[in-house]
Amino acid sequence: MPTPRQLIFSGICLALVSLGLADAAMSAEPLFQAGAATSNITPAIGSDPTVRSRKPPATHVHDELHARCLVLDDGESRLALVVCDLRHISAEVVVGAKEIIQRTTGIPPECVLVSATHTHTSTGARLEEREGEPYYDYRAFLTRRIAEGVLRAVNQLQPARIGWGVAEEPTQVFNRRWFLTARRGPIFGAHDNIEQVDTNPGYSGLLRPAGPVDPQITFLSVQSTTGKPIALLASYGLHYVGGVPANTISADYFAIFADRVGELLGADRHQDPPFVGVMANGTSGDVNNLARYSDEELAKREREPKKRYQPFEKAREVAHLCAEKVFQAHKSLKWHDHVRLSSVQRTLTFERRYPTKEEVEWAEAVKAKKIKPMSTSRYSTYSTVLAYASPEMPATIDVVVQTHRIGDLAVAAMPFEVFAEIGLELKQRSPIQPLMNISIANGAHGYLPTPYQHRLGGYETWIGVNKVQLDASEKLVDALVEMLGELNEKSK
Ligand SMILES: [Zn+2]
Repeated sequence: MPTPRQLIFSGICLALVSLGLADAAMSAEPLFQAGAATSNITPAIGSDPTVRSRKPPATHVHDELHARCLVLDDGESRLALVVCDLRHISAEVVVGAKEIIQRTTGIPPECVLVSATHTHTSTGARLEEREGEPYYDYRAFLTRRIAEGVLRAVNQLQPARIGWGVAEEPTQVFNRRWFLTARRGPIFGAHDNIEQVDTNPGYSGLLRPAGPVDPQITFLSVQSTTGKPIALLASYGLHYVGGVPANTISADYFAIFADRVGELLGADRHQDPPFVGVMANGTSGDVNNLARYSDEELAKREREPKKRYQPFEKAREVAHLCAEKVFQAHKSLKWHDHVRLSSVQRTLTFERRYPTKEEVEWAEAVKAKKIKPMSTSRYSTYSTVLAYASPEMPATIDVVVQTHRIGDLAVAAMPFEVFAEIGLELKQRSPIQPLMNISIANGAHGYLPTPYQHRLGGYETWIGVNKVQLDASEKLVDALVEMLGELNEKSK
């Protein structure tokens, strides 16, 4: 595979906030400030009947969707962290929002991170769907609302202190890709080839998971100088929880965590400004909340009656567990009256994914009705394969990646559904510890498996849901580790 052209842009944040503050920073102790706000991004229900979707338009809103915004200010630079209750976030929405943010607040694009939680119940907000009037309406609305949220967070900046920590919740994350026992027979993948692992393979006949999970919940917390909670931003490597009734919009467990952690930290529901909780998606491309065990492990475990959950019950359970773990870790947090902020952004150019000769032959045979595909090929249809074989498709995909430094906490932002092992490798190699990973950030370009996982196969490795060259994860991790190194150098 060709190497991506890197380093098209390498940016450094240094925005002097205002002359007044810059003077103050030179003459006195530097001031650290934080501000947080939420901005409602719920789409109109039923507004998208023309949008082609396997799901019908929503008829109910269980809880509103938000862009949850946190702005930090070290007296010299500002950093805006935004997490949206959406399944995906398109790069064009992010670019548009950042333009408005720069104009209204002066914060440059490389110091703004916009990500999606990956809630699967943001019906109407599925930006990957066929473009039509509702799509353009919602895209424009979303762009404005994200920028508005950041502006409101800036307007609420107040002197603050900051701390960060790492909690663990290993009981709610399960790798969803499995090697199967021989009795399950061959696994037919995309294009009817035989693969070694199956995604969401049911609950019996399982040998071992094909990859790890990341049990960490990395978080940062800001409070006023009098100890009033302002915001808490966490990241956990869990796809989503679900259990939401049909036709219903909901932000899933992410929003319940946000509320619950505020309650535990003693935030008053009517405090001014209101507390903002945030749960971002870590690296969860191959990790979900469905408990699966190998046959060997199952035999050892006591048979528990399968619990039937009411709508939202499971999401609440997971959110409360995570919030409790964060709350416990929060008790021993070390508070800082001032930390330095810095950011490094790059645009990486990846070769797009090309189908193999065999895949094209398979697709042409299906199209000519010479063969009937196996049922498991539903996600990677012949038309997807032929589209990716077409010379009309752009040869490369540009993706924006970011690293941010907040004192001794680092953040890595990646515009993919990133496999857990990639996040773990990044955490292990990061010269700044701890590292918070945020995926589906600044764009969404499909799943990101490692080359090894590509060889194993399974849904996430199929062309269409995976869009970039097979070794993209290695280039991405190397680039991010370099960028974290640059941040580390800058602070010396
Ligand atoms: Zn997904």
